[in-house]
Amino acid sequence: MDSEALTVDWALPEINLALCDKCGACVELCPTGAVEMTPAGPVIARPEDCTYCATCDAFCPQGAITCSYEIVWEEV
Ligand code: SF4
Ligand code: SF4
Repeated sequence: MDSEALTVDWALPEINLALCDKCGACVELCPTGAVEMTPAGPVIARPEDCTYCATCDAFCPQGAITCSYEIVWEEV
């Protein structure tokens, strides 16, 4: 794999560690296992697995993880 492929060019949830209390809900509830807990807080450890489903956003009790983009599917 290309070692420079460390960034992704699609939307990912944003995590505000200043708000996060490390409850772990986002890690437990992410249906694809994209989130991992670290000593500093949760990170999107597997961005390629994130489907941007917004489950983490919906269940974060602190409002610390947000999916700020709206994905709209258009028929062509
Ligand atoms: S659910 Fe929210 S408060 Fe809990 S660990 Fe995830 S980002 Fe932090
Ligand atoms: S948006 Fe969905 S898939 Fe992506 S990290 Fe949050 S819960 Fe997991």
